[in-house]
Amino acid sequence: MSNILLLVEQKENRRLLLEWLAVYYEVVLPNSTENSDDFLPFNQSFDLAIIDGIALKRHWQWVAAQKEAEHPVCLPFLLITSRSDVGMATQFIWQSIDDLIIAPIEKIELQARVEILLRSRQLSLTLKLSHDQLDRTLQTAQELNEMKTSLLYMIAHDVRNPLNFIIGTTQLLKKYKLTLTEEKTEELLDKTQAAAKGIDLLLDDVLLLGRVESGKTGFSLLPIDLAKFCNELVGEFQNSLKLKPENDRVTLIFINKHPSAMACLEVSLLRRILGNLLSNAIKYSPPNTEVIFELKVTETEAVFSVQDAGIGIPAADQERLFDSFYRAKNVGRIPGTGLGLSIVKKCVDLHGGEITLISEEGVGSIFTVTLPIAKPAKNQLSPATP
Ligand code: ATP
Ligand code: MG
Repeated sequence: MSNILLLVEQKENRRLLLEWLAVYYEVVLPNSTENSDDFLPFNQSFDLAIIDGIALKRHWQWVAAQKEAEHPVCLPFLLITSRSDVGMATQFIWQSIDDLIIAPIEKIELQARVEILLRSRQLSLTLKLSHDQLDRTLQTAQELNEMKTSLLYMIAHDVRNPLNFIIGTTQLLKKYKLTLTEEKTEELLDKTQAAAKGIDLLLDDVLLLGRVESGKTGFSLLPIDLAKFCNELVGEFQNSLKLKPENDRVTLIFINKHPSAMACLEVSLLRRILGNLLSNAIKYSPPNTEVIFELKVTETEAVFSVQDAGIGIPAADQERLFDSFYRAKNVGRIPGTGLGLSIVKKCVDLHGGEITLISEEGVGSIFTVTLPIAKPAKNQLSPATP
């Protein structure tokens, strides 16, 4: 039932209105409309107010404030006035009043105007609801769009390195094809193939991430032997480290006490988490220092920590480090786009895990990722590889 507020100071009109309106509507009265120049102490909600000239003169600021507070929903005010006062209605009055009725009041006219004004309010409420709904839809669409853009950046970011490598090796092969030994040619071709395979795997990952984020699929927790998986990953990094001169190298050490550690995790996401952390640790470390990668597995979780003695991260930068494109002030000329850690964070979140950081500028950093794990069932023991 609609609530109608009666702000009518003229006693006879008030009595009459109360009597007529109470049959169809909930009528509410302010505590006192008489002898009060103060602000109206009224905070009950209403759908329509009926006001007379005396009350309007006294409370016009309050009326304007009520209408403003409800905007863009219409809160109608109906003015009861006398024929002699109508002429005095200025342009100004229509900012507060939506309609008027001339006393002596005709019951049928009153009912008609009240119904029309209540319908206007109802329509504007419906319109506001649809508008809010539209706003939410638009926001979801915008979020999806941003997600797509960030996926595109991710692809560009991770494809560029292997692609540059492929361009470089093919140029080498073309330029020196007559002078390169068969062995060297074979080696370059193998590496080119590995880089191309890396891009292929990455595209799989990106498609998977996109599907997981848009809720189209849950991710597949496959049983993997974490010890074997990490060993192979470390091996890949150690191989690429070997390409550098010996005195310009970082040493990567893997600490793991588990001969085998079966757990169910999303392999491609895990590879991106650890790959990014290891490549950061190596990239931000000076030569002749150690990067220590440690794996600890319990019944319920897997803990991976990557520790380096590199440039460290200034305290002021640590909070925003997982934002896309954010790079700490001390990176100098070390290349990077600032996307790796935001990808890591996304993958950790998708696993329901957490990532923590301890770092001191000029001393080094320790990134620790803790992921909840499900132990594979006995009949589910075909380990995946990195
Ligand atoms: P890329 O997108 O190529 O990975 P990036 O390494 O700059 O570029 P992130 O991996 O997201 O981007 O890392 C964000 C920033 O965090 C880095 O720019 C660097 O300032 C800081 N950072 C990350 N790891 C380390 C680390 N191990 N030691 C020092 N600083 C680090
Ligand atoms: Mg990085």
